[in-house]
Amino acid sequence: MTNLRAIPSIDEIVNNCEIKPLIDLYNRDFIVNQVRKVVDGIRQELKEKRDSVLSENIMTEIINRLKRQVQSISSGTLQKVINGTGVVLHTNLGRAPLGKTVLDHIQHIGSSYNNLEMDLEKGERGSRYYHVEELLRQLTGAEAALVVNNNAAAVLLGLTVMAAGKEVVVSRGQLVEIGGAFRIPDVMKLSGAKLVEVGTTNKTYSSDFFSAVNEETALFFSAHPSNYKIIGFTAEVSMRDLVILGQNFDIPVFMDLGSGILTNVDRYGLHGEPGVRDCVQAGVDIVTFSGDKLLGGPQAGIIVGKKKYVDMMRKHQLLRALRVDKLILAALEATLLEYLSGNPEKSIPVINMLAQNIEQLELKAIGLKEKILEKLADSGKIRQISVINIEDMVGGGAFPTYTLPGKGIEIEFADISLEAISKKLRMMKPALITRRQENRMLISVRTLLAGEDSVIVNMLGEALYTMI
Ligand SMILES: *Cc1c(COP(=O)(O)O)cnc(C)c1O
Repeated sequence: MTNLRAIPSIDEIVNNCEIKPLIDLYNRDFIVNQVRKVVDGIRQELKEKRDSVLSENIMTEIINRLKRQVQSISSGTLQKVINGTGVVLHTNLGRAPLGKTVLDHIQHIGSSYNNLEMDLEKGERGSRYYHVEELLRQLTGAEAALVVNNNAAAVLLGLTVMAAGKEVVVSRGQLVEIGGAFRIPDVMKLSGAKLVEVGTTNKTYSSDFFSAVNEETALFFSAHPSNYKIIGFTAEVSMRDLVILGQNFDIPVFMDLGSGILTNVDRYGLHGEPGVRDCVQAGVDIVTFSGDKLLGGPQAGIIVGKKKYVDMMRKHQLLRALRVDKLILAALEATLLEYLSGNPEKSIPVINMLAQNIEQLELKAIGLKEKILEKLADSGKIRQISVINIEDMVGGGAFPTYTLPGKGIEIEFADISLEAISKKLRMMKPALITRRQENRMLISVRTLLAGEDSVIVNMLGEALYTMI
């Protein structure tokens, strides 16, 4: 029987020879605090008479709990995940993974001082807001460009600068909430602009915009309906018509594109979404999009369009609160340079994943299946494994109704619950996220990066041999 008095003093615990190595590895205060936490927990349990949770030797129990706790905190919370879902831009999985040239540029710029805010030619203070502007101008055809923290920030800044205290006309079909609680009406309110809804959820015409115009109208706003599509009897004002209407009334048009497409994605079988250049060419005054969606770069909000408006945004105090960091600028610059090179599918992982054709995917899937069989056929835990057709998705709010024909493997386990093994794989480092279909596990190969097939085989092996 253990009682409260049997708990050793904090000093005694800290000086125990098994704890000493921890103090060498970590900050002493951190370890002492964790010891206190463990002891408090045990005291509480004893008071509640749950003493059965304690082992014979209280010091061993304390040491074990302490090690587990320190291990759990000291490994941080962010970790690598292998994406077996086939959703290329998975918002829960950090959207776009970055390629080597991008990471090298982050390393290059981040590990030394740099000219973030220095004009090297004049030897005076410069502005961070001009980096990557020329690249964005070249790639989109826009007069001016500005980068902020994310696309939500870009929309907030744009609305604040162009329409605070004034009216903004938006189609009811576009009053959307986009992943992670980005709601157009709420952002509108935050900016101080007054939302004027026109049309209906499924049908909005040019004439609806026309009738809404008055002295107070500052902006026509259009948001890409990123994660849904209204089907059936629908009508939305085309970009061209909105631009013509805007020009007639001298009212600027703002387009929140969400996913910024800078390359021709039609060749990957993705049709019908306007690229950034299309919007600029159509005469849209301001276009905003994310850096980490189809662009395939770091989290960022990119604003391109007429110089007059971009300059106003550059001068606004709100920009200071939304400003972009040097590591992000480095990553974005390197990503944009890959587009300039003309072969983004070679070096930008997201574009590379979209570009993989069905034959390549099938080879990848066969390779994975064979590796698994080679290593795990003898385990007796795999009842069936096969290469299957699978539907992949772009994700990240682009092409919401499109699926990409993909390939994957389907595994049926013997005598193991799918739930249990899926969880086991999620809890490993790296973690593996899979899909399921009834009692079978699906792993899409499109979203697997180079070398991850071997890692998956080892993970499955470890999971299967430790599960009974
Ligand atoms: C994704 C998206 C946003 C939010 O962009 P973040 O970069 O995540 O802040 C805003 N508008 C649209 C249309 C989107 O698709």
